[in-house]
Amino acid sequence: MAKLETVNETEVAVLEPELVELAREIAAGERSFHRLPAELDAATAAAVRRRALELRAAASGGVLELRNLGAFTLDAERAATRHCESFTGAIQVPLGMVGPLRLRGEDLERGGEESVMVPLATTEGALLASVNRGCRAITAAGGATVWVDDVGMTRAPVFRTRDLGDSRNLVRFLEENFEEMRVRAAATSRFLELLEIRPLVLGGTTVLARFRFLTGDAMGMNMVTIACDRLVRELIEPATGARCVALSGNYCTDKKSSSVNFQLGRGKRVIAECVLDSGTLERTLKTRAELLVEVQLRKNLHGSIAAGSMGYNAQFANVLAALFIATGQDLAHVVEGAMGLTHFEARDDGAVYASVTLPDLPVAAVGGGTGLDTQREALAILDVKPDPARPGAAARRLAAIAGAVVLAGELSLMAAFTSNDLASAHERLGRGGSERAT
Ligand code: NAP
Repeated sequence: MAKLETVNETEVAVLEPELVELAREIAAGERSFHRLPAELDAATAAAVRRRALELRAAASGGVLELRNLGAFTLDAERAATRHCESFTGAIQVPLGMVGPLRLRGEDLERGGEESVMVPLATTEGALLASVNRGCRAITAAGGATVWVDDVGMTRAPVFRTRDLGDSRNLVRFLEENFEEMRVRAAATSRFLELLEIRPLVLGGTTVLARFRFLTGDAMGMNMVTIACDRLVRELIEPATGARCVALSGNYCTDKKSSSVNFQLGRGKRVIAECVLDSGTLERTLKTRAELLVEVQLRKNLHGSIAAGSMGYNAQFANVLAALFIATGQDLAHVVEGAMGLTHFEARDDGAVYASVTLPDLPVAAVGGGTGLDTQREALAILDVKPDPARPGAAARRLAAIAGAVVLAGELSLMAAFTSNDLASAHERLGRGGSERAT
């Protein structure tokens, strides 16, 4: 088994000769990366894989020293069996805090109003400083109000039929047997509830059926996929003769930006708003309402229309990616969360009304990467903890916080455009300048 020795303050695995031989076999292509003896524990198997990579590089005259990938605290067995095949180590991403961020909404506890510190993980210098400035402005002006609609998670199998008559039969079957499907779906998980089936016939012989479910505190993709598979194999195919070509027919739409998700929502549909008075705008954001409104119009609307983008915003993706990494969300869903609208209105007294609309925000408080130790700690900082008595409440809380912190990011970056601060802030904070963000 592997022992550890310390080199330059980094713990490096020292492998026994039989493990080095295993690594040599992998490096020589005699054994595949993922096929290691079952009796090896996950951390040792990872050390063998790292050594194999080093030997592989050496064989072609290169020098590769992997001294950091093996320095991790996560539970290797859990990581290797639930999260990452061919587990080889861990990548670290710097974590920082923004806040306090004041927000209110029905999906928050303690009387619906509170102040949170938000963990964000990123490699982009200047991001946290910018979002923190937005948090300061929102908090100084009285906080953000957030509305979370639990739209539900979707899966849309695609079927092939013989002709239009068969397609109509399939659509009728889905409508007439909704209750039977609701009951069968509920039997696959304690937290799953079928809300809707939305069929669409295309080209006469293609039928897409967009199933939508509540999934409690889970993001829900495994749950809805398992339930749809059961319904398709046990009920829909035998009864209609339609053939399911793919369990995901892209009308879901999972991990792609799409107008169907923009219109109908997916996961959580979140709107966060605040009103910033002119003093806060000037003191904290160094801007004025009419300047923000103009950048919104010409950049986020005109520019996005010109580009054919569905991201009518400045940086939803930046803030969501950092929150998703910190809290163990499925990172590919940033592509969905990045769709949405930032909106500014100038008020007569020099204040600005600001809002963000995120129609498609899949988030989880249980399942997937939320179970990893460091990600659980980040969720604990946000007090996002599933309560069996209130399934779904923890995920809605996380969605509400996400909405408010995205609003903070929008306000700060949009203000930076109005005062031409963007390039200088990145130069100072993203290129190792001595100044520290406050
Ligand atoms: P999951 O990791 O499969 O866990 C969901 C399970 O957690 C539920 O079935 C439920 O168990 C249990 N659970 C316990 N407390 C719960 C609560 N309060 N609310 C809801 N569930 C609770 O989670 P998932 O969200 O369905 O799937 C997420 C994973 O799917 C991620 O790792 C993601 O990367 C991956 N993913 C899968 C697909 C796919 O097509 N399969 C697509 C995209 C992403 P019971 O069933 O016992 O009630």
